[in-house]
Amino acid sequence: MSDSAVLLENVYKYYNKTPVVNALSFQVQKGEMFGLLGPNGAGKSTTIRMLTTLTIPSEGKIEVSGFDVGRQSQQVKRSIGVVLQQTSVDGDLTVWENMEYHARLHQMPAAIQRQAIGQYLEYVELTDRADAMVKTLSGGMKRRLQIARALLHQPEVLFLDEPTVGLDPQTRRRLWEIIQQLKDRGMTILLTTHYMEEAEFLCDRIGIMDAGKLIEQGTPDQLRRKHGEAVVITQQEQDGKLDFQFFPDLDQANAHVDQHRDRTGMMVRASNLEDIFVELTGRKLD
Ligand code: ADP
Repeated sequence: MSDSAVLLENVYKYYNKTPVVNALSFQVQKGEMFGLLGPNGAGKSTTIRMLTTLTIPSEGKIEVSGFDVGRQSQQVKRSIGVVLQQTSVDGDLTVWENMEYHARLHQMPAAIQRQAIGQYLEYVELTDRADAMVKTLSGGMKRRLQIARALLHQPEVLFLDEPTVGLDPQTRRRLWEIIQQLKDRGMTILLTTHYMEEAEFLCDRIGIMDAGKLIEQGTPDQLRRKHGEAVVITQQEQDGKLDFQFFPDLDQANAHVDQHRDRTGMMVRASNLEDIFVELTGRKLD
């Protein structure tokens, strides 16, 4: 039995004969938090949809909790919790009713339903909102409800698609704490995000996708060591554009700057995931 909670081997997904997921292979170990990053259209959502049995891969092997997503989709569904952008909570039900509905879908015995619902609402700090209509909740509360609901049937792997998109910074930080606590309790988590600081803060390992392919993976530290731990940013005189140059460490970056007599528009700082992301995926604008 492997220690992989999630395994993809040479996975393809074609739409209109175009591979939007292209020879994708990676694994997520049990208890690991793995972040999938990539520009819009990279194939992240399609990958999550395949992992959560919402769409079938055209080719290749995908296993979640040791089950094949195609042949054993029921077992996969039982072993995963999913928070997707689209599948939102029902606004015309109360918080409690939403949880109950989900518990029934998962055929949880009535006796443990109440206790589990209470426990997870408390976990995401929504106990005092149990009787509120979901449509009256703020964006952050709705997201917390989605997370509580996804945890209700005690999944082994949690999938979070852009968990904090559109939330204000305070709410986002609170969600980070909740997600971090889940990891500390041993939950395996795969998340997608556009926010580099979110990936850097939460993830043990990240994979960067571009045009359907995994172009890089590793811990944030490994990626910084590989691509350079320091950057020199130079503002071009002609057009004001910023040029980023990577160096193994700050000393070497500073030495490079010191060689220039005119240092106007030059800056040295430690590199971050965003620098590496932009370096690898290019400066695309939506
Ligand atoms: P991401 O989540 O990284 O933004 P997606 O997985 O949503 O990327 O999309 C990857 C590519 O696949 C995009 O070019 C998108 O237009 C295309 N795509 C996604 N779903 C479909 C579909 N159902 N039919 C046709 N093309 C699709």
